[in-house]
Amino acid sequence: MFKLPDLPYAYDALSPVISDATMHLHHDKHHARYVTVLNQALEESGAKPADLESVVREAVAKGDKKLINNGGQAWNHAFFWEAMAGSASTPTGALAAAIDKAFGDFEAFKAAFVKEGVGHFGSGWVWLVAHGETLSIKSSHDGETLLPDTAATPILVCDLWEHAYYLDHKNDREGFLKQWIATLANWGFAEAQYAAATGTGKAYAYPAPTA
Ligand code: MN
Repeated sequence: MFKLPDLPYAYDALSPVISDATMHLHHDKHHARYVTVLNQALEESGAKPADLESVVREAVAKGDKKLINNGGQAWNHAFFWEAMAGSASTPTGALAAAIDKAFGDFEAFKAAFVKEGVGHFGSGWVWLVAHGETLSIKSSHDGETLLPDTAATPILVCDLWEHAYYLDHKNDREGFLKQWIATLANWGFAEAQYAAATGTGKAYAYPAPTA
């Protein structure tokens, strides 16, 4: 059984960009539901997986939509919580240099990240991703993860589903994304992910299942 990971900060830590009310709904209802349905599907199939990453990769290989969607959303949300912090930061060191190389400078990166998120039609996720040292921005649809691309290391992600921002920003996805990338992106976490992508340390993994 996979557990719903606790938030790594208080529910009101990301306010006012993401309110306490949104975090309770998003974590305690939406994320919790994905984990519940994921566990139900695994129980029905009798599978005893070692980790969520392999569950999602195998589901994608088999075209198992229920596991792709619910396993993917369980993973994406857990990663999303880690990718935010209650105090603003900026990238430093090797990651900052890689951002300059890929996008020109940090301001151009932020603009490109917001543009990708605004341009993504419907629900999904906008990612900063590393393939080795090389950074790029991409978006994924609905519950789609980056896990099938085993050469990809996610660096940051923002949730584009309306449930992520509608209570606080109504239909203003652009305003939400601009504030998110300027104030909530957790660059300490991003730097650890980038170090893993380039050979130092381990990338984020979803907490292992309990018996
Ligand atoms: Mn969400």
